[in-house]
Amino acid sequence: MLTGPNFESDYVELRTTQYGGRSLFAARDIPAGTRVHSSPGPFAHVIYKDYRREVCAQCFAYAASDSVPVKAVQSRVWSIKCNPEGLQASAAWFCSEDCKKTWEKDETGPLQLQLDAALTKALVASRRKGSKSTNTPSFGSSDDLTQDAIDQAWKNSWTHFLHIQNNELANVRERQHILSAHLRIYAFLCNALPRYLLQYTPTTVREVLARDTGNAFGIWDGDRRDEMLGWGIWISASYFNHSCSPNIRKIRQGRALYFETSRAVSAGEELYISYVDTDQPVEQRQKDLESSWFFRCGCSRCNTESRA
Ligand SMILES: [Zn+2]
Ligand SMILES: [Zn+2]
Repeated sequence: MLTGPNFESDYVELRTTQYGGRSLFAARDIPAGTRVHSSPGPFAHVIYKDYRREVCAQCFAYAASDSVPVKAVQSRVWSIKCNPEGLQASAAWFCSEDCKKTWEKDETGPLQLQLDAALTKALVASRRKGSKSTNTPSFGSSDDLTQDAIDQAWKNSWTHFLHIQNNELANVRERQHILSAHLRIYAFLCNALPRYLLQYTPTTVREVLARDTGNAFGIWDGDRRDEMLGWGIWISASYFNHSCSPNIRKIRQGRALYFETSRAVSAGEELYISYVDTDQPVEQRQKDLESSWFFRCGCSRCNTESRA
């Protein structure tokens, strides 16, 4: 049996492929336009700092999007804010009170805010003191944050996360500077994190850095991909392989990713999304796939277009 997230859908099954690795296959004949899988929320994500006032921390709605009427959003930023006492350096913004309440109920959001505040403080401190400083910035511990809250935030997703493809070797071979960059990130986190978060650092940093490349999905403003607001990892979604003529399209609604057939699919067919812009010529697609996903695309479309 394959270990991985449960695909509780009549439509898909996780199997090994004939060329190695795992992939999702159609468990039965599926008509076009059928939703075959949904991934309710990211295991981990980041909204770029420059976008935090414009992107709802809960549903990722973009205040400056063309689809949001100007009148509804004054000056193109959200006004509902969560800025806990003691975390002046860090705040989250929301499109609605509902989004704010949902976000506050989940442990992960507030935890991220604390982490963000700690890292921002350490970054400022390290810049002020110069890179030669060995002083560890001091942080007050938070009484609100309990071990239970942290454990709950991790739940069992971590085990599932470890099952997705580890790209460490491929990534470091492609970009040799990445190894020293990752070691610097590790050293910075060891120095910057408050004690109650430090216990997670050594075991997690390397595992995360080994998997974010090649498994992350961009968080875009709508389907036109005008603006990339951040990125995230939806664990089960990482099991879709790539084709330049995919039979599955990905739709993001709020935090969730949905996967629908873009044409009729027969039982036993492999299910593919596209990792790259399929309007690009074959050379560009191959280049993007090799540098960011570390494989040479051998899909039928690439084979036909390469021969042409
Ligand atoms: Zn929202
Ligand atoms: Zn291809």
